[in-house]
Amino acid sequence: LAQLFRPLDMLGMVYRTIRQGLIDMAAMFNLIDAKPEVVDLPNAQPLIVSEGRVKFDNVRFGYEPERPILKGVSFLVPGGKTLAIVGPSGAGKSTIARLLFRFYDVTGGSISIDGQDIGRVQQRTLRANIGIVPQDTVLFNDTIGYNIAYGREGADQAEIEAAARGAAIHGFISRLPDGYKAQVGERGLKLSGGEKQRVAIARTLLKDPPVLILDEATSALDSRTESEIQRTLRDVSERRTTIVIAHRLSTIVDADEIVVLNEGRVAERGTHASLLRQGGLYAEMWARQAAEQEMTEA
Ligand code: ADP
Ligand code: MG
Repeated sequence: LAQLFRPLDMLGMVYRTIRQGLIDMAAMFNLIDAKPEVVDLPNAQPLIVSEGRVKFDNVRFGYEPERPILKGVSFLVPGGKTLAIVGPSGAGKSTIARLLFRFYDVTGGSISIDGQDIGRVQQRTLRANIGIVPQDTVLFNDTIGYNIAYGREGADQAEIEAAARGAAIHGFISRLPDGYKAQVGERGLKLSGGEKQRVAIARTLLKDPPVLILDEATSALDSRTESEIQRTLRDVSERRTTIVIAHRLSTIVDADEIVVLNEGRVAERGTHASLLRQGGLYAEMWARQAAEQEMTEA
């Protein structure tokens, strides 16, 4: 009998994988408006992550050929370290996140993880190793539990709840009449930007990837919830390579390196202390945010 059921089991698994794959692609392309023109090379190999060393080498990119967005960006994040990217709006920070996830291919230079050019590995294995909490999260028209569990196939309820706790959304979900089975999306519950952001964080905590990208991941949260989640995110980033794109500079002062991006170029780089000493763009941004902070507290 077991011999009869094994193929059926396999079929079920394949079906679930395909179904998730399709939903995934649809949501992704919806989200970022990308054309599905990024394809695997015929001889693409799986990405093997050992240390999780991320390298951008003179990366050039534009959404349209006549308008370059990244004009030769280089940085190196050693395995397990945290790189922060800051800079004015429109500088190209989210573009860096999208290129690392290979939503688009670079037009010059290269991106590699542990020495493997990400343009030459199987996309599926690249994306399995990277967790991204985007600026704007799109949820699936499914239960809130599914939306978290989507981070990792086969997760059990206890793991889902632990991830939800880490993202400070478990309490909110438990108070819903249908709990984790509550429908979200067009035909269900409308979540606020902050709630969606917390679902995305829970999903990523559950996925537990070796490389993590946080793109203004807590920007939609009130400051109390933000500091609650910041603690979790700090713990999570401790053990893995993290690229954190931040608006509020106070959240990235501990980063191993901070890169200041301006008009598609690295304008400054260093630690928080060394950047303040340089007295440039970063120091200026820091002073401005400190003044704003005082204003709101006064
Ligand atoms: P940041 O995250 O630093 O605010 P982005 O990386 O999102 O900046 O965007 C950098 C530039 O690229 C902006 O001028 C933006 O308008 C442009 N841009 C972003 N996404 C697209 C897109 N899908 N198509 C065309 N231009 C885009
Ligand atoms: Mg952005």
